[in-house]
Amino acid sequence: MEKLIVLGTGNAQAVHCYNTCFAMKKGEEYFLTDAGGGNGILLALENQKIPLERIHHIFVSHAHNDHILGMVWMVRMIATSMNKGAYEGSLHIYCHQELVDIIKALSCLTVGKKFTAHFDERILFHVVGDGDQKEILGDHFTFFDIGSTKEKQFGYCIRMEEGVRLSFPGDEPCHEALLPRVQGSQWLLHEAFCLYSQRDRFKPYEKHHSTVMDACRLAEELKIPNLVLWHTEDKDLAHRKENYTAEGRKYYHGNLYIPEDGDVLSF
Ligand SMILES: [Zn+2]
Repeated sequence: MEKLIVLGTGNAQAVHCYNTCFAMKKGEEYFLTDAGGGNGILLALENQKIPLERIHHIFVSHAHNDHILGMVWMVRMIATSMNKGAYEGSLHIYCHQELVDIIKALSCLTVGKKFTAHFDERILFHVVGDGDQKEILGDHFTFFDIGSTKEKQFGYCIRMEEGVRLSFPGDEPCHEALLPRVQGSQWLLHEAFCLYSQRDRFKPYEKHHSTVMDACRLAEELKIPNLVLWHTEDKDLAHRKENYTAEGRKYYHGNLYIPEDGDVLSF
């Protein structure tokens, strides 16, 4: 992968920014992770000039609505492109077993048969189990169960062709059992629900989320040089970057990224 294109940075209830999802660019192709909670994914892709015809690989982490409902739109629009003869090849969706049925069911309930007819024909599901490895766009992926107690969720580590390692442990605090997987990464994409100093207002811990301080401490301890924080509250977006950076700097000395929707980072 060459670039991280941030399509959304908000948590499930964010309305002033899109739900957290992102694309990674490799050559002319894009690998999408989650699709947010609606058709905002289409605008986010359009804003980045990412054509649907260049998306052949999508990873879906879990079934919560802020990650999966955009998939119904991706299915609909990519199937439309297939029907028009504009889309080459197949769409590959990587997810855990239960998600296959959920994505199919949501799509079948909400979009027409002429779209869902492509399931298992040109829209292909690849079930990933804990520890499964795959080559995608020339990079080496290892998928893992993040160990959520809320909803079965998967994340992944990538060892890129160029040697860069990146870890994405989903939208929960990185569980202790995952540390050996995440260790040695140059990039960690982690959730941070809010500032530690605002924990009483946003109550991250009761929602199984972490704060900027928590994520920064973890990245510092693991000596990870690049940390991206997202999946945040959206109550003061104009100052989010400034405020989160100020708190994070106290605990983390690597490159701290608090992206806005639409930011692009190079690996
Ligand atoms: Zn979420």
